[in-house]
Amino acid sequence: MIRLLSKQISDKIAAGEVVERPVSMVKELVENSIDAGASVIVVEIKNGGKTYLRVTDNGEGIPNDQVSLAFQRHATSKITEADDLNHIGTLGFRGEALSSIAAVSRTEFITKTPSEKMGTRIFINGGDILEESRTGCPDGTTIIVRDLFYNTPARLKFLKPDATESSLIIEFVSQMALAYPDIRFRLINNEQPLFSTSGKGDRLEGIHTLYGKISSRKLVPIQVSHQEYRLQGYVSDPSESRSNRKGQILFVNGRAIHNKPMERAIDKAYAQRLFEGRYPIAYLFLELPPEELDVNIHPNKREIRFHKESDIEAFIGNSIFQALQQPDAIPQGLDERPFSNQKTEWGKNSESMSASMIENPIQVDIKSLLSTLRENQLVEETIPLDAYRGPKPDRLHENGFNSYLNRPNQDDHRFHPEELNIISVIFNTYIVASNDDSMFLIDQHAAHERVLFERIMAQYESSEKAGQSLLIPFYLNCSISAVANWEEWMDEIAKIGFSLSLFGPNTLLVKEIPNFMELDAAQRFLSDFMDQIDDKHHSIDKAVIEKAASKACKEAVKGKETLSDEEIKELLSSLAKCENPLSCPHGRPTFIRFSQSEIERKFRRT
Ligand code: ADP
Ligand code: MG
Repeated sequence: MIRLLSKQISDKIAAGEVVERPVSMVKELVENSIDAGASVIVVEIKNGGKTYLRVTDNGEGIPNDQVSLAFQRHATSKITEADDLNHIGTLGFRGEALSSIAAVSRTEFITKTPSEKMGTRIFINGGDILEESRTGCPDGTTIIVRDLFYNTPARLKFLKPDATESSLIIEFVSQMALAYPDIRFRLINNEQPLFSTSGKGDRLEGIHTLYGKISSRKLVPIQVSHQEYRLQGYVSDPSESRSNRKGQILFVNGRAIHNKPMERAIDKAYAQRLFEGRYPIAYLFLELPPEELDVNIHPNKREIRFHKESDIEAFIGNSIFQALQQPDAIPQGLDERPFSNQKTEWGKNSESMSASMIENPIQVDIKSLLSTLRENQLVEETIPLDAYRGPKPDRLHENGFNSYLNRPNQDDHRFHPEELNIISVIFNTYIVASNDDSMFLIDQHAAHERVLFERIMAQYESSEKAGQSLLIPFYLNCSISAVANWEEWMDEIAKIGFSLSLFGPNTLLVKEIPNFMELDAAQRFLSDFMDQIDDKHHSIDKAVIEKAASKACKEAVKGKETLSDEEIKELLSSLAKCENPLSCPHGRPTFIRFSQSEIERKFRRT
C-alpha cells in the first residue's frame, strides 16, 4: 500500500541530509546569522555540540508572526521563484535548516527584530511546537539546540567522540572567522572561551589569531581580479607545506566549500615548487557572479559547481603561480620570528549587544588546539578534505593554463635573477648575490638543474629537432622489451634531439644527442628514460619525459664545481628565462633570501 509519509517522518528523513552531525548544524546556523546581517556571532558548544549548542547573533531577527513559519520545511525568506536559484546571493536558500534541526533535537529559539519591543521565544521538540511566547531580549537571534538525535538513536550512534565533534566545529568556526573578517566571532567550548576575533576586517590578523604559529613571512598575499573574478587570500611560500590538504581553506562567494578544480589549480601552481606529496597552505576567497555557480548540488551545500570550470581553474592556478614568482615568495634564510600575539581591543563601538558578548578577544593557536583534541581521536577520519588525492600535478601549460600566463601587468612583480649583483661563491656551491633590499644565496646545482630541465621540456614541446652528432657514437644497453617496442618511444625522444638506431636485441646506438646537453647528461637522461619506460605500461608521453628529465637533472652540476663569473652570469640569466626559476624540478629551492630588514634585526639595529 502506498501512502504519504507523515510530516514527522518526512522531516526526519530530510533532516538526515542537512544535519549529519553537530558541525553541520553549526554551519547552517552560522550561515543564517550571516544572512541576517549579523556583525557579532557567538557559538557555544558542550560535549562536542551533542547535548548543547547555542548560536547567538545580532542580526535582523524574525518578526513574531513569522517565527513558527520559519520552522516549516521549505520556508525561506531568501528566494521566491525558481529563477532565483540561478543567482543566489545568500548562503541559505533551501529553507530546510531550521525545520531539520528542530526535527531531531530539543530546540529553543529566541528572536527579536529591532522594530519590535518584545521578542519571541519558541520551544520545539522533535518538530512539535511546545510553547511560543513573548519575551524581553536583545535584537537578534539565539538558537539553543539540546540533545541532538534524542529521537533518532540510530543516528546518535554514528556520532564520534566529543573531542572529534568539537574539533570539527572549532575548525569550521575558525574558517568562517577567517572568511568574514568584518564579523566578530566568538567560540566557547564546555564553558571555556576558545577564541574571538576583532571583526575589524583584517584577514591577516584573523590568521594570526586562529593559526598563530604560521609566520606571516611565510604567507604570500594574493589579490587578483580578472574580468568578473576576484581572488583574495594567502598561500604559503614553498618553505611551508603540509602532508595533506588540511591547511587549505577554500571559500567561494562566502561559502566554505570543497572543490576539485580549485584544489587542482593549487597543485599545478605549486608543481615543482614542493616535493611530491606535500601540500601548501592556502586560504583562498573567490568571488564571482552568482549565476556562474551552482550551489544547489548537495543539501549541505559543501559542494559547488562552476559553469566555467576550466576558466576558474586557470584563473586561480595562474594567480597563485604569479604570486609565487615574486621575491616575497622566496624562502627566507633567517630564523622565523613567531607572531607576537598582540591583544586587540574590541567592544568599543559595538552596537546593542548583550554585555556577555562583549569581552576581550582571546587568542589561541587553533592548530595546536586541534592537534591536542585529535590525540584521542579515532584514526578513521570523516572529513572529506583528505579524500581527494589529485593527479600528480602536471605543468602549467595544460588545460588552458597559459591563457592567463603572459599577462604583462602581473609580470611587474616578478623576481629578476639576472639583475642581481654577484658577490661571490661560497663552499664552491652557493652563489652569493644581492639587490637593493636583500641578499641571496643561490644553489648553483639546483639552479642549473632547473635550467637544464626547462630546456629539455621546451625542446620536447617545440617541433624542431636540435641535435648534435657525436664523433664517436655510444652504445646503450636496455631491456629487450624496450627495444622490441622502440617504435613507440623513438619519436618522442627524437623530439628532444636524440638520434638512435637499433643495434642488437638489447642494444641501441646513440648517434646524436641534444645540442644543449653534455655527453654525460645525455647518457644519464637516456638511462633514466629507459628505466621509466620499462616500468610503464601506458604510452610514452610528456610525463615520462618529464620524469626522466627531472631525474637526470639531479646530477646536472655536481656540487663543488667551480663556476667562473661569466658562467654564473650565464646561469642567472638562463634562470631568469625559466618559467619556474625559484625551485629545482624536484621542489628544492634555488634561492634563499635574507632581507635587509631581517639582517638588521639580527644585528639589533632596529
Ligand atoms: P534558509 O536559510 O535556507 O532560508 P532556514 O531553515 O535556515 O532556511 O531558515 C528559514 C528562515 O528563517 C530564513 O529564510 C530566515 O528568514 C529565517 N532565519 C533563520 N535564522 C535566522 C537568524 N539567525 N536571523 C534572522 N532570520 C533567520
Ligand atoms: Mg539557512
